Amino acid sequence: MNPVSKRRREFLGTAATIAGAMIAPGVFLYDYAHGKAPGEAASGKVRWGMLIDTTKCASGCRDCVDACNQENGLPGTTRPTDSQWIRKVDLKDLKTGKAISAPVMCQHCADPPCVDVCPTGASFKRADGIVLVDRHTCIGCRYCMMACPYKARSFVHEPTTGQKPDVPRGKGCVESCTLCVHKVDRGGTPSCVEACAAAGHHAIVFGDLNDPQSEISKRVRAVATTQLRADLRTDNGVRYQGI
Ligand code: SF4
Ligand code: SF4
Repeated sequence: MNPVSKRRREFLGTAATIAGAMIAPGVFLYDYAHGKAPGEAASGKVRWGMLIDTTKCASGCRDCVDACNQENGLPGTTRPTDSQWIRKVDLKDLKTGKAISAPVMCQHCADPPCVDVCPTGASFKRADGIVLVDRHTCIGCRYCMMACPYKARSFVHEPTTGQKPDVPRGKGCVESCTLCVHKVDRGGTPSCVEACAAAGHHAIVFGDLNDPQSEISKRVRAVATTQLRADLRTDNGVRYQGI
């Protein structure tokens, strides 16, 4: 097995790195409970999600997009066929004149059409709600791309270059936002969230929607939020505020 395939299997299957640095007895740099021990399966007790506050998202800002490309070894969209895991969308209500700008990525649906239509099982949802594509069993039929209401998936048309060890990609496969699962499994945070915070916007909160004490759960309870195309009842893990 070549090194990239080995890493991919680790990524999809079980491996995770314990990275909970203890800075004082019983005090961790981050909440270790959010990482997974090596060999531990994803937990159904957790549901990872994001809350995007469009009132804090600046039109023209692409920090999240650039961070995603950097983290996942994507070339950026210089050609129409280039992969795009997260995109900025600007909307304007013609009646009120209200304008918003928001990042749109895989919504990590609890009831994902992309999984329903996949003939090989390559498109799958983990117990913790993260929706992924197994590069090894994807046959590139692109049914999932057609089924996704959010146009969240891309097809890899060209041989890939600059692959990151944690994010192997392959020509002929479909791919989409993984919620930076390789980081989340180590107790980390998706790179788009980190970049947005580092730029001072703090427009994206990431966390466990099942944990009533998590910041995202508290915010979802406290403010009016919406899911894109909630009428489709895909029960998205990505929520929006200010739309
Ligand atoms: S947004 Fe699209 S790709 Fe992501 S889980 Fe939902 S249907 Fe699947
Ligand atoms: S392109 Fe791949 S992941 Fe999508 S439906 Fe076809 S086999 Fe499944």
